[in-house]
Amino acid sequence: MKTITQHYIDGAFVESHGREVMVSVNPAIDTAIAYAMLGDEEDARRAVGAARHAFPGFARTSREERATLLRRLHEVVAARIDDLTVAMVDEYGGTVQFSSLIVRMAADSFLHAEKALHQLPLVRTWGQTTVTLEPVGVAGLITAWNSNALFVCLKLASAIAAGCTVVVKPSELSALQTHVLLKCLHEAQLPPGVCNVVTGRGDDVGAELVRNPDVAKISFTGSVAVGERIMRDGAATMKRVTLELGGKSPNILLDDVALDKAIPTALGIAFLNSGQACAAGTRLLVPKSRLNEVKRAIVDAISAFPVGDPADPKTAVGPMVTQKQYERVQSYIQKGIAEGAEVLVGGEGHPPGLEKGCFVRPTVFVNVTNDMTIAQEEIFGPVLCVIAYETDEEAIRIANDSRYGLHAFVSGTNLERARRVASQLRAGRIAINGMRDDPQAPWGGFKYSGVGREFGTYGIEAFLEPRAILE
Ligand code: NAD
Repeated sequence: MKTITQHYIDGAFVESHGREVMVSVNPAIDTAIAYAMLGDEEDARRAVGAARHAFPGFARTSREERATLLRRLHEVVAARIDDLTVAMVDEYGGTVQFSSLIVRMAADSFLHAEKALHQLPLVRTWGQTTVTLEPVGVAGLITAWNSNALFVCLKLASAIAAGCTVVVKPSELSALQTHVLLKCLHEAQLPPGVCNVVTGRGDDVGAELVRNPDVAKISFTGSVAVGERIMRDGAATMKRVTLELGGKSPNILLDDVALDKAIPTALGIAFLNSGQACAAGTRLLVPKSRLNEVKRAIVDAISAFPVGDPADPKTAVGPMVTQKQYERVQSYIQKGIAEGAEVLVGGEGHPPGLEKGCFVRPTVFVNVTNDMTIAQEEIFGPVLCVIAYETDEEAIRIANDSRYGLHAFVSGTNLERARRVASQLRAGRIAINGMRDDPQAPWGGFKYSGVGREFGTYGIEAFLEPRAILE
């Protein structure tokens, strides 16, 4: 059993001041696998002090110096990809399929930030006016558990590119992944104080970062409820905020779509990260004229998404992260049934043979209307709602009838038509004909899905302030 008692402050591993012990439970086997000592407000203040001290020097580094650090960070994280993958699989039951992909993305985020840094004009002039983009100050980076290593690396990469020093507060459910990342950080030999990490609870370590006057910026990935609180509490010290929050992404299948491809893809998008993904396409909008075909195609395709041991490369859906998350998903399945939706596949309870662990049955509801709770609220589990529509206009209206606007998907044979529909959707990212990835394209949400953007030059600009000098 691993025991983790240290944080990373001012370039060194330091014993936790906070004494609360958190037990890390592998949700696939319902067994304790590690103890982690959680930091407290005092640990957070020490980390902020180190970041504040390091900021003036780091803010003056050149673009080339920061690019060198980013390349070094890539190397050290890439060298520990296997350790990080194992930690993700054990600690929160991410499937090995998904976890290995995410960890690779985490390592690569440093190279993507380096590329973006070279593309970003940091000095602009108009006549006698010179505008420089200046690092905003000490940044607090607060992350969610569902891809913790990726969020930490992504935010850290943009902050370093911008010349900010940081205090990272990873999810308290991610102590093992964080422990591996700390080793990487130490190996990268960043200047002391540039990157400090304190694992702890949100309402002490996180809240301290949000109210601390020496923290200029909070970059947060997590729930809407906590995002609202950060915005409200951060206002007292005029915090700049980037908030990456939840989603209820629509996936529109146009009536000329090829279902043999589109349905397996739609299930893959819905069950991404075992359904615990902010971008998961959890509302499948299908033309009424093809509803019966869609139902048959879903029943045929579901066997390609086996639930089970996340360490098995064939597994597509692993357990939910905790018993609490398992119960949350169950309560939504019950609510869907109570509100009149029909279970096409899956349903309540554990999948047969997987009674131990936090496994749920990948579930597809049909006869869903967009006003049902299961169509409006983020479930964060492998639950897909199929909603029928008559015309493209109605599909667009239903897709936009959500408080969220993080991601959307449109599929169809006529590309022009798919683009026309995409251009009317209120979401930060829209993928046409499948899941698409572009690490330089902005990532972030409309409406309650968040404030600001990450990735590429947009992600770096979120850590910069323009300063104009006029002669
Ligand atoms: P959460 O909001 O409960 O926790 C996120 C982080 O905030 C954790 O580190 C937590 O300790 C911290 N926190 C909690 N209270 C805090 C406070 N008062 N002050 C400061 N920090 C505090 O979210 P979660 O359960 O970890 O993650 C799931 C949510 O994250 C889902 O809604 C999901 O959609 C969202 N998410 C969004 C994105 C995106 O890119 N938009 C990506 C992944 C997850």
